[in-house]
Amino acid sequence: MQNIIKKEGFNFAFDTNACYECEGNCCIGESGYVWVSKNELKEIASYLEMDEKEFVNTHLRKVRFRYSLKEIEIDKNNFVCEFFDLVQKRCKIYEARPSQCRTFPFWDHFINNTKEVVKECPGILPLY
Ligand code: SF4
Repeated sequence: MQNIIKKEGFNFAFDTNACYECEGNCCIGESGYVWVSKNELKEIASYLEMDEKEFVNTHLRKVRFRYSLKEIEIDKNNFVCEFFDLVQKRCKIYEARPSQCRTFPFWDHFINNTKEVVKECPGILPLY
């Protein structure tokens, strides 16, 4: 069954079924940031049944005054989010993933960069 999502202001739609075939393109690639708010870090720590402080020390990196999930370099200039399972091709904290992941691909950055997201995500259906 098709599950197409559209959002006002974006000139593409998103077919969520593509995620089943995709090998994690939105969790693998150039080095970047997956921002985690204070509330989100509490939720993820709780999901993992970890102490918050231990979670911060183990899985987050501080970037100025914010936190981002750690990433692992798998090839030269190719990184993966620490929570992406490369064997199962799935997010290990899917139910507790941060808002940045939940809102992909409808990021303000892609409003004027549709070609970029078309290249990255097989679920993008251009509307132009
Ligand atoms: S938290 Fe999950 S969905 Fe978000 S980048 Fe990491 S592996 Fe991908």
